[in-house]
Amino acid sequence: MSTSAPALAEPEAAIPADAPDAPSRHAAVRRTFAVISHPDAGKSTLTEALALHTGAVTRAGHVKGKAGRAGVVSDWQEMEQQRGISISSAVLQLDHHGHVLNLVDTPGHADFSEDTYRVLAAVDCAIMLVDAARGMERQTRKLFDVCKHRGLPVLTVINKWDRPGREALELMDEVAQVTGMTPTPLTWPVGVAGDFRGVVDRRTGGYTRYTRTPGGATIAEQEHLSPEQALEREGETWTTAVEEAELLAVENGDHDEEGFLAGRTTPVLFAAAVLNFGVDHLLETLLEHAPAPGPRPDVAGAPRALDTGFSGQVFKIQSGTDRAHRDRVALVRVCSGHFERGTPLTVARTGRTLTTKHAQHLQGASRTSIEESWPGDVVGLVGAAGIEVGDTLHARGAVEYPPIPSFAPEHFVVARPADLSRSKQFHKGIAELDAEGVVQVLRSDLRGEQAPVLAAVGPLQLEVASHRMAGDFSCPIRTEPLSYSVARRTTREHVQALTQQRGTEVLERRDGDLLAVFTDVWRMNGVVRELPGVVLEPLVADT
Ligand code: GDP
Repeated sequence: MSTSAPALAEPEAAIPADAPDAPSRHAAVRRTFAVISHPDAGKSTLTEALALHTGAVTRAGHVKGKAGRAGVVSDWQEMEQQRGISISSAVLQLDHHGHVLNLVDTPGHADFSEDTYRVLAAVDCAIMLVDAARGMERQTRKLFDVCKHRGLPVLTVINKWDRPGREALELMDEVAQVTGMTPTPLTWPVGVAGDFRGVVDRRTGGYTRYTRTPGGATIAEQEHLSPEQALEREGETWTTAVEEAELLAVENGDHDEEGFLAGRTTPVLFAAAVLNFGVDHLLETLLEHAPAPGPRPDVAGAPRALDTGFSGQVFKIQSGTDRAHRDRVALVRVCSGHFERGTPLTVARTGRTLTTKHAQHLQGASRTSIEESWPGDVVGLVGAAGIEVGDTLHARGAVEYPPIPSFAPEHFVVARPADLSRSKQFHKGIAELDAEGVVQVLRSDLRGEQAPVLAAVGPLQLEVASHRMAGDFSCPIRTEPLSYSVARRTTREHVQALTQQRGTEVLERRDGDLLAVFTDVWRMNGVVRELPGVVLEPLVADT
């Protein structure tokens, strides 16, 4: 009897790595990343500064508003409208020194949702943006937790150094404590927070001195000085910066590429995005140290070569982005091969074929057709029906990537059809929203099929669910909020004991996970005291 050899990718799909258009060549010059931060840390400002420094825009912000900056540019679409520039609402593609930077937006503020976390499945690296005065805030911690879970390398940028804030060494301690990573600053600030003069480049020992431009709308002037010139110019302030930087070397604070890629260390840069200080160093660091797209492991853990047939993973589905068309766009991260518009693709989960005639770069209001893409890029497939978040799409050479996990929900409502005679539409709609990942649908025998619990990371997800039920499934729903805010994974043998506890319930998710939900952490701790040995595992992004 012969044992069957593991299935090989179809041989005709392999592309020689030295071919002029080999996908691995295009991948090597790509960097795909996201910025993770708490609202107001300066993500939009930094995005704009990156666009300015790479020549995508010529002037940053400062159009109106008394604080100067475009009444706070809160999202890219708004930026487009204000400046008539083409910046995508989902992905910003920037060219820099022969490289292609794909900055994938992590929606924040009011629209913070599970999508924000899912975006991290589409990138190879994250920039953790920290406000110098506020340190590691809640949303940053949660997003970091997702990065850690995915094994993403994280670069840290301490922003707003032009404003009074904490001491740099104290911030390094906080980053280390909260993330468990060793901070390895590449630059070190000259001048305390609030008196930002420039940075020491810790590799060369040289000094980059910044000069403010009016309103910070254009690239800041920089002087590059030797340590001797720096001492002459800044005196004691320079000496202090150098001494602190030397202290870091003693504490294992020097850059370690392997440690960074493995998530054990985090390179740190200091910046003032609003003044365009430190942005050059960030771009240099992305090109030099951030990982290029590499072969992605499939469900079985086998890496899919870059130089083979196209494959990609859907990480987000946007509905109703184009008000004129009310359409549905699936955002696909290219993982291997060459994407060419028009090539039919297979949906790995269903085996169904999909046409890609309407592939687009989501370049804002006027979307442009995308003809081709390479590993690390993001493609928007318009009107793609029968696709769910997490789906793998492939051309020749079948592959399936691991699903994108569900995250810790914090908002819970019971949903019922407003009109009880529409229960068929109700079930169909709820199942569809669950499959698309709009909300997590939780069930229990106690509550029954007619009253599932809808759970979400952000409240907007629940609003979207109600809206879609009424609009797409003609079944308006009534929702009743539940007072839970904490969920933990448990096991079947604990269900009975847990459900007997006050303010506690156990619900089952579509992926089979049993979630014990509690009104708050104090209640949960009380239950743990009552039931020693009960299994309550934290879910991803539950910090
Ligand atoms: P987001 O919510 O993270 O996108 O933050 P924004 O980019 O909208 O910035 C929030 C506020 O912080 C705005 O008023 C910005 O002008 C301000 N801001 C951003 N970066 C800096 C900085 O480096 N220094 C100072 N002083 N203010 C900044």
